[in-house]
Amino acid sequence: MKKVTEAVFESKKIRLTTMRILIYEYLETVTAALSLAEIEKFFHKADKVTIYRTLQTFQEKGLVHKILDENVVKYKLCADSCGEDYHNDRHLHFYCKKCNETTCRDEIILPKSLEESFQIDEVQILVKGICEKCLKSV
Ligand SMILES: [Zn+2]
Ligand SMILES: [Zn+2]
Ligand SMILES: [Zn+2]
Repeated sequence: MKKVTEAVFESKKIRLTTMRILIYEYLETVTAALSLAEIEKFFHKADKVTIYRTLQTFQEKGLVHKILDENVVKYKLCADSCGEDYHNDRHLHFYCKKCNETTCRDEIILPKSLEESFQIDEVQILVKGICEKCLKSV
């Protein structure tokens, strides 16, 4: 386990378990958001229920946020400012129709003005197209 992992878990008040550490460190190495199926495939020897519960816990504790693209739910690590029952992920997501990768685009966030008059529980802004990588490989 990396020292940073320990610090992140502590700040998000997540108890350390081997599976949690492994999933977190895997999510950290991948730039794109990952679906449950992709995570299960990577940890094919692990119990599927444990993986699912781990992601649920991560979401509740503000460690990952869910993104819905096409018809798939994907998971991506959150910003430091997310915490228990509070998500600060007000950014846009980009979905590439070619490689099916979904990425967080932190440069575009929901305007603050909306939060003044509404209670925002969840933000799902999805832009679909062809990503930089795929455009270059044409
Ligand atoms: Zn979050
Ligand atoms: Zn692409
Ligand atoms: Zn995101």
